[in-house]
Amino acid sequence: MLDLTDVLLTEGKVIQREAVLGLEALTYRFGTFPVAEKAPVSLTIEHASGRKLLLDGETRLQVLIPCARCLEPVAAGLDVRLHLEIEADDRDYMDGYNLNIDQLVHDEALLIWPERILCREDCRGLCPVCGQNLNEKSCGCERTDYDPRMAKILDIFSNFKEV
Ligand SMILES: [Zn+2]
Ligand SMILES: [Zn+2]
Repeated sequence: MLDLTDVLLTEGKVIQREAVLGLEALTYRFGTFPVAEKAPVSLTIEHASGRKLLLDGETRLQVLIPCARCLEPVAAGLDVRLHLEIEADDRDYMDGYNLNIDQLVHDEALLIWPERILCREDCRGLCPVCGQNLNEKSCGCERTDYDPRMAKILDIFSNFKEV
C-alpha cells in the first residue's frame, strides 16, 4: 500500500515514489505462479484533476512459470509498465487514500503474460506414456515418433502406391 494522502489533497500535484512490492504470486487462469524476484516500482503519480490520478512507472518481476513441455518451473522476466489513469475512489486499486500497488502490478503483469515458456529450445518434454522427464533420462517406453494423424496420411499414401 502506498499512502497518497498528500497528492490527493492537492490538485495538480505530482509526486515520485519508490514502492516496495509485497507481491508473492500471480494468479492467472492457469493457476498461481510464485514471484521469485521483484524490483521496487518507481512510480510517478499526478493528481490530474478532480478525482483523477495518472500513474506512470515500471518494474521487473521474475515469475516461475512451468515449461510448456516438461512442466519444470522456469524463471520468466516480466517487464511491467504502469501507465494508466485511475479514479481516487477506484475500488480495485484504492483503499481510502492508499494505492494498492501490488494489485496494480499484478493485473498489469497478466496483460503481458508470456504465451509459451520453454526451459530450453530443445526441451524433450515428458514421456506421454509414463510421464518421465526426458531431459533427465530416457525411459524405454514404446513411443511412435510421429503424430497418429500423420501416420494415417502416410498409410493412405502407401495404399495408393500399391494400387
Ligand atoms: Zn522443459
Ligand atoms: Zn516413458
